[in-house]
Amino acid sequence: MSNSTSADGDAPSGESVRLNSLKEFRPAGRGYWRDVPDADWNDWHWQLKNRITTIGQLQRLMPTLTPEEFAGTTLANTRLAMAITPYFFNLIDPADEDCPIRRQVIPRIEETNTASWEMTDPCGEDSHSPVPGLVHRYPDRVLMLVTDRCAAYCRYCTRSRLVSNATGYDFHPQFEEQIDYIRRTPTVRDVLLSGGDPLLFNDERLEHLLSRLRAIPHVEFLRLGTRIPIFLPQRVTPQLAATLKKYHPLFVSIHSNHPRELTTEVREALECLANAGIPLGNQSVLLRKVNDDLAVMRAHVHKLLMCRVKPYYIYQCDLISGSAHLRSSVRKGLEIMAGLRGHTSGYAVPTYVIDAPGGGGKVPVSPEYVLSRNADRVVIRNYEGKIFEYPEAVDGTPLFAPPKEIEEPELA
Ligand code: SF4
Repeated sequence: MSNSTSADGDAPSGESVRLNSLKEFRPAGRGYWRDVPDADWNDWHWQLKNRITTIGQLQRLMPTLTPEEFAGTTLANTRLAMAITPYFFNLIDPADEDCPIRRQVIPRIEETNTASWEMTDPCGEDSHSPVPGLVHRYPDRVLMLVTDRCAAYCRYCTRSRLVSNATGYDFHPQFEEQIDYIRRTPTVRDVLLSGGDPLLFNDERLEHLLSRLRAIPHVEFLRLGTRIPIFLPQRVTPQLAATLKKYHPLFVSIHSNHPRELTTEVREALECLANAGIPLGNQSVLLRKVNDDLAVMRAHVHKLLMCRVKPYYIYQCDLISGSAHLRSSVRKGLEIMAGLRGHTSGYAVPTYVIDAPGGGGKVPVSPEYVLSRNADRVVIRNYEGKIFEYPEAVDGTPLFAPPKEIEEPELA
């Protein structure tokens, strides 16, 4: 029986109704800005200029702030600036204290609590920076931090030490030094531009950087990491897509966490990029009461595919200072992965990773599918919990025993 029907096979089950509702594409709407002319609303500069950045603005628009949010917003600039685009603000449900959109962008007083294991630079980026703003941790690729500004600020940001300059980090990327390092390092074949958000640059500035990088013969592959299509889809214009298209192979990694972020506006923006031949991937951060729920994550990955975006990573939330209230457990992450793998299209299943604290890099974590392994065979479990044995090939010798399902694994 399909899991979209209830036990009697007629009415859709509650879970199926919830899934379908989460998967609907809806416009963000105009909300408080209903009188703003279309030309302004759809202009990314207008959206940036009219961001909500103060407690006064936020309280006026949302009198339902909780005491934790009020106290957090008052102190916001001591850790990470607050900014919310009018477009993204309209996705918040002011009546729901646990609204998953609200939890991502409205500061809370809990951000001022730092556990002993939390860090300001949890991925050890600063200690892997040969020149300011360039992180070279893996052998063949670099991360180029090009700005400390974002369209809106996520409360769990791994780079909160530098983003928005709220904590006085005084971030000044040295583009010439960064590009010179890449030019002098022939092992670097992949450059990821991030920040902050590189798509906050205007087209000309972006093009200047991309063309300089593309001119380096050993740079095979360019990537942009951006949350702009989610926070500010108005920025994704046909001109931007045409600019990016000149620098293929160029991939864009977006950052979306919840299916409600995938609106009709976002779908249109992503389509514009996809139509320019830009492969799109998504990175989500597993966040407590935002997306640490199988139905939410399933709706999200399905919706991403409908937007032509491959769900690429789910990150376990980094141990960034003041993020404990947003951090979900690894156990929950593994449960979600077990609920996706095999139960839905392989294309919809991201890799779940923990960025090893202190700079160890991304480590994939997965439910256990290999139960035992020795020189002769591998015992594996499928998504339904059935156990199979697969004979190991030795030195390329063709397999002679067919794979079989076994009752009980004989654990090595
Ligand atoms: S968009 Fe990215 S860099 Fe900017 S605040 Fe959010 S997580 Fe941090």
